[in-house]
Amino acid sequence: MIKEFLQLHGEYHDDKYFKDLTTLKMGGHIAHFVMPENKQELKVIVNYLKTNRIPFKVIGNGSNLICGESEYDGVVISLKKLCEYKIEGDEVYAEAGVMVPALASVLAKKGYSCLEFASGIPGCIGGLVYMNAGAYKGCMADVVTAVEVLKDGELIWFNPDELNFSYRHSIFHDHPRWVVVSAKLKLTKKDSAEIEELIADRLRRRRETQPLDKPSAGSCFRNPENDFAWKLIDSIGYRGYRIGGVCVSEKHSNFIVNEDNGTAEDYLNIVYQIQDQIRDRYGIRLVMEVEKFNC
Ligand SMILES: Cc1cc2nc3c(=O)[nH]c(=O)nc-3n(C[C@H](O)[C@H](O)[C@H](O)COP(=O)(O)OP(=O)(O)OC[C@H]3O[C@@H](n4cnc5c(N)ncnc54)[C@H](O)[C@@H]3O)c2cc1C
Repeated sequence: MIKEFLQLHGEYHDDKYFKDLTTLKMGGHIAHFVMPENKQELKVIVNYLKTNRIPFKVIGNGSNLICGESEYDGVVISLKKLCEYKIEGDEVYAEAGVMVPALASVLAKKGYSCLEFASGIPGCIGGLVYMNAGAYKGCMADVVTAVEVLKDGELIWFNPDELNFSYRHSIFHDHPRWVVVSAKLKLTKKDSAEIEELIADRLRRRRETQPLDKPSAGSCFRNPENDFAWKLIDSIGYRGYRIGGVCVSEKHSNFIVNEDNGTAEDYLNIVYQIQDQIRDRYGIRLVMEVEKFNC
């Protein structure tokens, strides 16, 4: 019944695994996976799932998720096909599935300053808004002018001051069934060569300091106030620490990488050990930035 419904309203698969949909490359089978072709299909799908009390999870590029090995007996909705964008005056309108590094690069070429801070964040517009993702002292809250949300069956535009943005947080954390459908971001005209140079420099810095050649979900822990998670992890001797196929990166100790078919259980065992030791030694509670799902 669910399968037949979803097949009518998007590209449907029942043979997908989280390990193929996340940058950490972990996680088990998904009972139902669907990619709506447009907003209307998304709306119909979400309304049907809510009405029938069927669990669902919306994903972007899966770059902030750690997923368990057990089957997810619900529906994963990928927004990768909602990927239109348009420059409108001093704003860019982008649908939730637009990949941010690609958009940053297009804007840079056209001489628009906006997403330089996010050019190395491997997620989609929806995921970056959800997380209020950021780097280099910039974050989505600095550039978002409006967000279109599927809420209670309707598409509604929210202003930034309604979105409760704070450090790696937005209102969407408190409303997991709302869906970011698109966003408008403000643009500032600048010299394109200058923007491209800045982006190239930041990508170079990432390649030098982060294990981008290995599957990860980015920084595992948020930085505690006035401190750095990587420094605390180094101080307890966990750089390079391994359980099963999962390892604290030698290159950047706030990255936990999947070196050899690791599982979410291995990953979380490392996380809990680090959290316990940091709490016992410094009284600091390290909070995960990566989201656990179905584990
Ligand atoms: C190598 C690497 C480097 C990274 N560097 C950074 C960095 O510098 N700064 C930073 O902040 N993050 C960084 N990250 C983490 C990650 O890229 C960000 O958190 C990003 O915002 C996640 O986007 P996504 O599309 O992959 O979301 P996903 O991982 O697919 O989803 C993350 C959460 O957002 C929700 N979500 C996704 N799309 C929607 C939507 N349309 N509507 C409602 N909810 C939605 C999901 O349900 C989930 O709860 C990095 C990750 C990697 C792998």
